[in-house]
Amino acid sequence: MKKNDYLCPKCKGHLNAGGFVIFATKTNKQNSGLILLSPKVGSYSVKHHDAYRFEDGELIDFFCPICSADLRAKENEKNVEINMVDENDTEYRVLFSRIAGERSTYLLSKDDVEVFGDDALEMDDLYEDSEYL
Ligand SMILES: [Zn+2]
Repeated sequence: MKKNDYLCPKCKGHLNAGGFVIFATKTNKQNSGLILLSPKVGSYSVKHHDAYRFEDGELIDFFCPICSADLRAKENEKNVEINMVDENDTEYRVLFSRIAGERSTYLLSKDDVEVFGDDALEMDDLYEDSEYL
């Protein structure tokens, strides 16, 4: 069965490989490293090299490992935004928190919003400007 594909919104390059979604990242303290996330929406397992450390609550910058685009969401800087295509070829925008340890994911399609994670906000709080809904 086809799995979810994750794409960079800028270069449309595939972000998944080897069963993970891969990002180039940088911490507050300007340490850089690769972060591997689960392709399963709502799963918050995070893999990285033992030498690459960050604290819960730290704001992490996420970049496309292919084109180096900054992946922070335009509407809410605390989130990362990438694209997802599911097994039915439905396209979504996926937003998730770039605060280490925070569990919130928003799956936006043309006519639906799904919210995942214990730390997720109400949709009203996700955008400062409600015209994006
Ligand atoms: Zn890219």
